[in-house]
Amino acid sequence: MILTTHAIVGGSLASLFPSHPIVAVVVGFASHFVIDAIPHWDYPLQCISVAPGHRNQLKLGVPLLQDAALIAFDACAGLALAVGLFATPATLAVIVLAALAAMLPDPLQFLHSLYPKEPLASLQRFHRLIHTKRQLEWPLGVSSQIIFAAAVVGATDALQFV
Ligand SMILES: [Zn+2]
Repeated sequence: MILTTHAIVGGSLASLFPSHPIVAVVVGFASHFVIDAIPHWDYPLQCISVAPGHRNQLKLGVPLLQDAALIAFDACAGLALAVGLFATPATLAVIVLAALAAMLPDPLQFLHSLYPKEPLASLQRFHRLIHTKRQLEWPLGVSSQIIFAAAVVGATDALQFV
């Protein structure tokens, strides 16, 4: 899934137990793998890849900067939405931490492509194993992710009133 979706799910889960920051972070991190198992769409990148055996060379140029800008925008949008949807002044820190934890496995995949050593290697194997092999096409993949995120927000709202 895209980082925005991961951050929203992490933030929503954290909002269910905002007084347990460690649990919120662990659950946020774990949620990444659970929702990556759902068939989805990921935006294509020009030069950054986490495909098996691919070593990122990171030659500074327009394609790398465009990739970095897209990823940064995705992460910032996710963080802003998680905060806007779920944080109160009292829970801001835990929501931000859980949203970051929910996105973290993807940058760790990238880190693994630069340093393919343990424990990143084991995490990468697990990430690859659990990640869906079914890539949805644009625009179904985009709308399904928006619907999924909206459903998570709705379910979180409902759970908070139980
Ligand atoms: Zn992932």
